[in-house]
Amino acid sequence: MKDTTTDTAASFTSFGLHPDLLSSILAAGYTTPTPIQAQALPVVMQGRDVMGAAQTGTGKTAAFSLPILHRLMPFATTSASPARHPVRALILTPTRELADQVGESVKLYCKNTPLRSAIVFGGVDINAQRDELRRGCEILIATPGRLLDHIEQKNVSLAQVGILVLDEADRMLDMGFLPDLDRIVRQLPAQRQSLLFSATFSPEIRKLGNNFLNNPVSIEVAARNATADTVKQIAFSAEGDEKRLAVMHIVRSKKLSQVIVFTNTKAGASRLARQLEREGLKAESIHGDKSQLERMKVLEAFKKDQVEVLVATDVAARGLDVAGVPCVINYDLPFNAEDYVHRIGRTGRAGASGEAIALVSSSDMHLWADIQKLTGKNTELQRLNLPSTPSRTPSRQRDNSRRTHKPQDEIFYKPYQPVASTAPKTQPAPRHNGNVGASQGKKRSVGILLGGGYY
Ligand code: AMP
Repeated sequence: MKDTTTDTAASFTSFGLHPDLLSSILAAGYTTPTPIQAQALPVVMQGRDVMGAAQTGTGKTAAFSLPILHRLMPFATTSASPARHPVRALILTPTRELADQVGESVKLYCKNTPLRSAIVFGGVDINAQRDELRRGCEILIATPGRLLDHIEQKNVSLAQVGILVLDEADRMLDMGFLPDLDRIVRQLPAQRQSLLFSATFSPEIRKLGNNFLNNPVSIEVAARNATADTVKQIAFSAEGDEKRLAVMHIVRSKKLSQVIVFTNTKAGASRLARQLEREGLKAESIHGDKSQLERMKVLEAFKKDQVEVLVATDVAARGLDVAGVPCVINYDLPFNAEDYVHRIGRTGRAGASGEAIALVSSSDMHLWADIQKLTGKNTELQRLNLPSTPSRTPSRQRDNSRRTHKPQDEIFYKPYQPVASTAPKTQPAPRHNGNVGASQGKKRSVGILLGGGYY
């Protein structure tokens, strides 16, 4: 009989990774290296500097952490002495969420080794982090501001850091972290390996690379505008309140238990989550006005399937890694087409399939055109066939009806007839009062087919 266990790890084995790391990859269910892993692993293992263009979702965390851990294995010790566990690899990320995710991945990859890792970011109690740092760790994952606090408090020394990673460097620059980065890098030995990852290669990023990297190898796996082939892109025309009804219909008819819905504003995210909650969906919002603790709690609940719909703004969602999100909905289209690529990168990760649904109102047409241009796709705008009047039954009753209802996907996708396409672009879309009914549906300039009762 074929030994599938050996086969599974075979492609990773060819890199010569330490067996204790291979065993954790195997346990994590990784079968084949992703393109960025195939390119970066050998180069990083050799100790070369890297300038990598890769977005979240490509497997870039493993691409840099696995070879780093491999290089640190000679230093792995079971000694309890903090002095034997100095920080040897520093990974800087722009956001707390990304630090947490990278840190969790690193912990997973080195769980069969004595290597220690720690994650530090702001917005949470500093004392527990201080205690962990003082116990010693070979790998430190940090956001710049909190790391500087720890350096000032002398909770950590970076004098023995031999490897530096700047993850999502473009976002770090956008968020104004350059002075902090300069201060941190001044603490590091000049002789070190440095890796820089960024979704884009702007002139500013190249300048950063010139300053921090030494003769780097350039690795590029996905163009700036690339959307994964594994993501099926669908677009519906929807005006005003129909967008909310559409979200409910999509979640219910497709029986989705994990959906990320993007809005453009923090207030919009909170409002939509509250409305969906009132309609009986388990919804939460995640945005910049929430405390770090609240954000982490919401994210945990979402990962554990306790929250069906996560309504998020771009900043809060950047880098979110929730394995296997089957669907991302763009409730608001982003003003910047590149954000669309980031948003839908939350689904279809590392080869898994996913669906990205855009809800496009007539006033969004110019944004939709920008997105189509950037992604080089021509996604047909379809009519939404929404159920008739939404019920106002108590949430518990609605919840039951949802579980017993037969999905009506057959009425869901209808080719869009651009009824409103002759209307001038500047003319605002007619807004209805939220009480969607068949007669209103017929009157609207962007047509909505209203199907049989669903709720
Ligand atoms: P990242 O781009 O690093 O955020 O990774 C995206 C997701 O892909 C994470 O959930 C990883 O656990 C997963 N992943 C990374 N590498 C592989 C692989 N070779 N096979 C399967 N999943 C992977």
